Amino acid sequence: MSRFLVMPAVGSCIPMATLPTGAAGPIAISKPVGQGPLARNLSDDVKTIQQALNRVALKGEPGGPVPLLAVDGIKGPKTQAAIFNFQQLQVKGINADGLVEPGKQTILRLNAIAAPISRVDLNAKLAATLPLVRAALGAAVANLTAIITSGPGTPGPAALAEDRLDRHFRLSTLDPSRQSEGRVTLFETYSEMALVVNRPDLFDMFEAEDAFDVDRANPKIALTTVKGVFEPPVKNGADNPARHIRLGLGFFAPSVSADFAAFILIHELAHFTSRRDGEVIDDFGRGWFDDIFIRPLKAAKRLLNADSYASFAHECRTNSAARPAFVKTAPGGLGGAR
Ligand SMILES: [Zn+2]
Repeated sequence: MSRFLVMPAVGSCIPMATLPTGAAGPIAISKPVGQGPLARNLSDDVKTIQQALNRVALKGEPGGPVPLLAVDGIKGPKTQAAIFNFQQLQVKGINADGLVEPGKQTILRLNAIAAPISRVDLNAKLAATLPLVRAALGAAVANLTAIITSGPGTPGPAALAEDRLDRHFRLSTLDPSRQSEGRVTLFETYSEMALVVNRPDLFDMFEAEDAFDVDRANPKIALTTVKGVFEPPVKNGADNPARHIRLGLGFFAPSVSADFAAFILIHELAHFTSRRDGEVIDDFGRGWFDDIFIRPLKAAKRLLNADSYASFAHECRTNSAARPAFVKTAPGGLGGAR
């Protein structure tokens, strides 16, 4: 086995059996690591922090442990001291409390130094995801076209679409004129969402990728401004962040498959364009159509609910009403992750 000599920021070279692997996605822990009553120090989480702190040293940045920590999943005095040291040297504006918490400043700073997400990472993720987004939005538009052109009660694609609209938007609970209004609103809204990724030039963007940006300060998955696509591209002489769907560190986690990423992007696109009639698409509940936080939502609410747009498009693309494993249910409002 070859040996490498690595020079950290301070001190002399450290011999290592193997070079540490590059960042495999963002650094994330499930429970706090370090000291104090909140600390859980789960073995995998401790390993993650030990590896991340070592990477800080190997990158030549101040605040990394010298010598490197043993990656053993045990929070001993050396690991604890390294957490302290990192906070003191690298995390501005907090009291160094010796605790790394999920989604807080210390882990964000560890990510910024040890596993920075770049535009290249974003474009790689989008390359795998945008084809699924386009397919799902196209399938949603095709389903809506089938029922709008043939009318309800027609067997075949129109009947299938009718079932789907009922599952995800409960359209059959509305009176007939509201039902047809709902179908047209959905058709127009999905069409507009599809235009963002298929005809970005219509929104003064060069390419679909321009609708997205990395949000390095956000440990969650995504952040969008409602009707953001209609915001001016430049504000106060700088790129207007409201014009982008901002993808946080959570979006880049290896656990976010292309299918899940597509679901997230469709959810965000629903906010980003909002409804074609000008109504804002909000978060009234998160989850699949039969999940506990979606079930109580009436048709009018679902027609304004981002996850309902994502779930209908997902079913239209995959031809399956089965709930994907990545869809988790949560209440509406700002508390949820997307
Ligand atoms: Zn949302």
